[in-house]
Amino acid sequence: MNPVMEHVLRAQTVDGHEHLLLPSERVRENTGFFEISHYIEADLYSAGAEIPLAGKHLEGNIDLFLAHYPHIKNTACGKTVPMIFELYGMDGGVNEKTLRVLDGKIRENSQSLERATAWYDEIFKKCGVAAALSVHSGWGNLCGSSREYPAIRPVAYLDFLLRRFQVEWLRRQCGSLPNLCGARFQDYLDYTENFLTRQFEGGVLAGKFGTPYWRSLDFGPPGGSAEAEAEYNSGEEAMPYFESFIFHYLLRRFEAQGLPVQFHTGHVTPAAADMPRYQLQWSDPSPFGRLAYQYPGLKFVLLHTGFPFQEEYFSLVKNIPNIYADFSWIPIISPMRAKLALHMALEMVPCNKIIGFGGDAYHVEALYAHLRAAKAVIGEVLSEKVRDGWFTEAEAKESADKILYENPREIYGLGAAN
Ligand SMILES: [Zn+2]
Repeated sequence: MNPVMEHVLRAQTVDGHEHLLLPSERVRENTGFFEISHYIEADLYSAGAEIPLAGKHLEGNIDLFLAHYPHIKNTACGKTVPMIFELYGMDGGVNEKTLRVLDGKIRENSQSLERATAWYDEIFKKCGVAAALSVHSGWGNLCGSSREYPAIRPVAYLDFLLRRFQVEWLRRQCGSLPNLCGARFQDYLDYTENFLTRQFEGGVLAGKFGTPYWRSLDFGPPGGSAEAEAEYNSGEEAMPYFESFIFHYLLRRFEAQGLPVQFHTGHVTPAAADMPRYQLQWSDPSPFGRLAYQYPGLKFVLLHTGFPFQEEYFSLVKNIPNIYADFSWIPIISPMRAKLALHMALEMVPCNKIIGFGGDAYHVEALYAHLRAAKAVIGEVLSEKVRDGWFTEAEAKESADKILYENPREIYGLGAAN
């Protein structure tokens, strides 16, 4: 193996984007093979499997999986299946018998908090992951992660604050939350501010929007509060002024707090997206050019390299100081596109603005497989850059350390202890 690839495989990593369950959540889920198959499921669905598989147990899905797996063995997601077998010390073929054995082994790591925590420790160590920034959805105790599993660092999911269902949820709390009626627009703004205060006090490292899953990234200019309030009171599902008003409010608050915000850009996974309404342009990162100048003190981390808008994406990252590139998820969509994107990034973008890895996964098995895919991409690209005379070997190794470890530490303000 060449020395650059060897260096990349050994490199310590700060993982910039995950959705990891805490060990206690894994125990509650009783995680098995189909629970960890979130992205594999997307390709099975595309291949014609009728039912989304996630969250279902082995018996209901094994036939469906075996019928469609041969169609997805070629895809980057499909190729994570043998990696998970290997992680569990199994290198035989994928069949009913081996799947049942694998499922049993995965579930053994979900049987108690001690067992799940030890498994997380093993994977984090094996992967050399020093910290993983992880988005927790909803409005519960988002910051519990720092206490339960210190290497999982919390990121606040923000989209729900823009949604009609959240407005209606708060209205139903009328009378049950102290000092909140839940009926008036001002109550909603107070609730939003209280949510943010809890996040900031709880030590979130960033916020995260998954906007293209339900609407366009183009919010337009900030809506006035009068229009936002009228929509809030209207009961209509679509609330463009309200959405824009809250969106800009959140950006201002994160800017004032000095915390970055992550934004999903590009390709969406069908299980989570509003597919019948979805339009590809919703994912186009172009509106961030304007936004970045509106909020010059806010770090905009654009996730997933914006595929299939990578040209627009890297043009933005190249030109605008407070827009950052993030390579989460893309290596398991297409290693070739990830390689092309990393070549483009290294040629176009200052090296301190590239975050090299995020597994975008709910389970540590997927983190492991996605990191393997990402390190193969990074190692190959940096080796090619040495072969082509773009980098010396020392420069290639230094670039690997920056994109995998130093940049995410710097961008998210992780202390020296991390
Ligand atoms: Zn994500």
